[in-house]
Order: sequence, then C-alpha cells, then structure tokens
Amino acid sequence: MKIRTRLSLWYFIVSLVILSVLSIGIYWGMLRVLYRTVDEDLEIFTDMIEGSYNPMLGEFEEILWKLESAKRFQEVYLMVYDNNGRIIFASPMTQFVDFKMPLPKDDVALGFTRTTKMTRSISVLKPDENGNVTFRGISRRMFYNNRPIGWINAGLPITDIENALGKLFDVILIVNILAVLLVGIGGFIIIGRFLIPIKTITNKTKIISHSNLNERIEIHNEQDEMGQLTVTLNNLLERLYNAFETQRRFMADAAHELKTPLSVLRAHWEDEIDNPELNNDFKERLVHDIETIGRLNQMINKFLFLAQTEDVVDKMDLSKIQLDEFLNDIVSDAKILADLKEQSIDIVELTPLVIEGDRNQLYQMFFNLIDNAIKYSPQKGKIWISLRQAEQNAQIQIRDTGVGIEEKELSNIFNRFYRVEKDRSRKTGGSGLGLAICKMIAESHHGKIVVTSEVSKGSTFTILIPLFQSADKS
Ligand code: ADP
Repeated sequence: MKIRTRLSLWYFIVSLVILSVLSIGIYWGMLRVLYRTVDEDLEIFTDMIEGSYNPMLGEFEEILWKLESAKRFQEVYLMVYDNNGRIIFASPMTQFVDFKMPLPKDDVALGFTRTTKMTRSISVLKPDENGNVTFRGISRRMFYNNRPIGWINAGLPITDIENALGKLFDVILIVNILAVLLVGIGGFIIIGRFLIPIKTITNKTKIISHSNLNERIEIHNEQDEMGQLTVTLNNLLERLYNAFETQRRFMADAAHELKTPLSVLRAHWEDEIDNPELNNDFKERLVHDIETIGRLNQMINKFLFLAQTEDVVDKMDLSKIQLDEFLNDIVSDAKILADLKEQSIDIVELTPLVIEGDRNQLYQMFFNLIDNAIKYSPQKGKIWISLRQAEQNAQIQIRDTGVGIEEKELSNIFNRFYRVEKDRSRKTGGSGLGLAICKMIAESHHGKIVVTSEVSKGSTFTILIPLFQSADKS
C-alpha cells in the first residue's frame, strides 16, 4: 500500500476514534445533565408528598389538593401506598399508562427510566410512533417521624428529553461523518502535497546515471526534513561524481600514456619487416605482433571513447542522416566479414527515415552490433536487419541465429568489460567494451538499446532513435 494511502487511512481512523470518543462524551454528559434535572424535580416532589401526609388522619394536607389543580400535575404519575400495599392516592395519569414501578428494596430507587405502553390517549402525553411513552421514575419509602408508613411511586414523562437527545444524536452523527470525511479527504490532499518532494527526488534519481552524475535534485526548502534529505542525496551525488571523474581521468590518462609507446613500437616493427637480414620465421612473428599491437590500439581507442562520458555529447558532430541509405552502406561493409564465415546478412525491411546524429558514432554502434552478430553466430549463420518507424522513433533491429545469451546475463552485457563467461575462453577476441560503447552512443542520441535472446537460437538487438523533427512544421 502506498504511503499516501496508508497515512490517509491512519488519519481517517485516528480522527474517527477521537471524534467518536468526544461525541459519546458529549451525548452521555448531556443525558446525565437532563436526567439529573428530572431526578431533582422528582425528589422535591416526593418530599412534598411525604410531608403532606398525615397517617393519623389517613389524609393529605391541603398542599396536595393545590398541587392537583396545577397543570404540571396532569403529567405526573403518582401512586401512594400504605404499609400494607393499599393504594391511598393515585394521580389521574395512573389511568392512562400501564406503568409498573418496582417497590424500593431499601428506602429509595431513584432515577430509573422506563418505557411504557399508553393504555388510553391523553392530551398532555406525546407518545412515540408505537404508542409508547417514557417515564423517569422514583420509588421510595414514606416516613412519618422516622417511622415507615408506606411507599411513593412517582414518574415524569421524558419524551421531550428523549426527542431532544435523539436529535442531538442525529446531529452528532452527521457532523461526525462530515468531519471524518473532510479529515480523510483533506489528509489525502495534504499528504499528497507533502509527498511531492519525494516524488521529485525519486523521478530525478531514476534518470541519473553515470553519464549525468553532475545533475542535482532541486531543493524546495532546505530547512525541513525533505530539504535535508535532498541536500544529503546531492552531497552523495557530488561524491559519486568526483569518484567517477577520478576514475574517468585515470582511464583517459592511462590510455593516452599507452598510445604513444605502442605507436612507436608498431612503427619500429613495421620498419623491421623490410629488413632483408631477417629470416621468414622471425618476420612472421613480427606480423603477428603488429596485429596484436593493432588490437591493443583498438582497445585503447575504445577506452578513450568511454572515458569521454560527458564530452561525447559536446563533441558530437550532428547532421541529418538518411538512415535507410546509411544502414545499407554499413551492411555492405559488414558483408565482407560475414562472407568469411559464409553467413548471410539480409535487410528484411527498410523504411526511408531521417534522424539527426553523429555519423561516426552511429557507424561505430551499428557496425559493432552487426560485427557481434557475425562473431557470435556459427558458420553459415543468418543475420536479419530491419528499419521501421515506431511512434516518433526509428527502430532498428539486428537479429541473428547465434549462440544467444542466457537470461541472467542480459542485464550485464552492456556493462564495461563484461563478457559472457563462455566467451572469455572462446576465441572471439572481444574486450567487453563494445556494447557499453553502443549504449553510450544510443543514449547520447536520446535513444536506447535493448536486447532479447534465447540460448542456442539467437539474439535480437533493438535500437530506438528519435526521428528528425523539422523545425518548420507548417
Ligand atoms: P565483446 O568485445 O566481448 O564482443 P561486447 O560488449 O560487444 O564485447 O559484448 C559483451 C558480451 O555480450 C560478449 O562477450 C558476448 O558474450 C555477448 N554478446 C554480444 N552480442 C552478442 C550476440 N549477438 N550474440 C550472443 N552474445 C552476444
């Protein structure tokens, strides 16, 4: 799962938990406050009833009758029992609801909520859709001079409170859903913005290779952690660049230093060949040595080419190239080598296409690839060349029926000095630098080179080079 999704999900879950706990707290607090108010009313009310009863006379004092005429009294459920459980008073509400209150176990059972069925309709009560009303009740012992004389059961309808709490619940639910959604979506957007520098770093580091190590990642804000990460990466690139530079300079210097004595040696040997005093055996050895010096020279030239790395782009001599004609010429040159192994080279498709590039470098690349196809194909092998357009690129394929390359080797063959193990012992006389040079040339032309291969069946090298785009596209 992506960091963005993971963080957003966490954001969502944490805010959901916090908001839920908060909402439950608010709801619960509100419920307690409202019920407490009713409970206090009930306590005061039952105290009054208790105080107004005279067990000697078996009567209530005037206060109850005053209360009876009050409007609020219509809503009150009130039953008063004597010690034998005989009803000594029942408020009018007792006729309308079937409200079975518990008798108190000890002295008092305060603040219980009970939903009960309305048996008859009464204007002061608002039942819910099922015809039920909810009462908050108290059930307590009644005392006279500290002597228990009976029980009082009283209840007040709390439908309004329940309705208000129901509405509060709905509001809290809607607010919570909206808040959590907002936090989730907002988090997703904010985290996305926050991760932009990471994306920039990833994209940039993906395209940095040994040929453009001097490029640096853009720093958005040097003070924050992302900025510091970018600075660290840039410092790493700087150190890598310096190390590569040292290596490159060493390669170039060493190659240069070797070139001069080899040329002197070769000139010397070539002079010696004409010496009439030397016998034929010795002359043959000289010819062989001169050939070896020639191969060493070629290798040094490849060294020098690879050591150029950055300069290769600057030193490119760009011109428009009619690629089909160009390839045709290279193939006729390579045919001389193929003939030596009785191999055939066929151009199977040749679309007229124009690219812009350095003729010498491109010649070197194509010739090298065809030369490899010849080298790694058996006597009488077949080689096919094609040129076609693939989107905005010229696509050149060189296919052979050679030894092929094992899957595990494919990613390495473009590395410098890499040769497939078997070919080290085989007498193909390679250096392992050819494909590294081909890759460098393809990339300096903004193109790329890929290979597919099957052992014992053959290999296909595909090169893509952008087509020439004329400036006046009218
Ligand atoms: P070399 O000078 O050894 O040919 P390259 O860089 O040109 O060096 O090639 C690297 C290695 O890739 C070779 O040693 C060879 O094993 C393998 N290779 C290159 N081209 C082919 C091909 N057409 N068929 C099979 N193997 C190939």
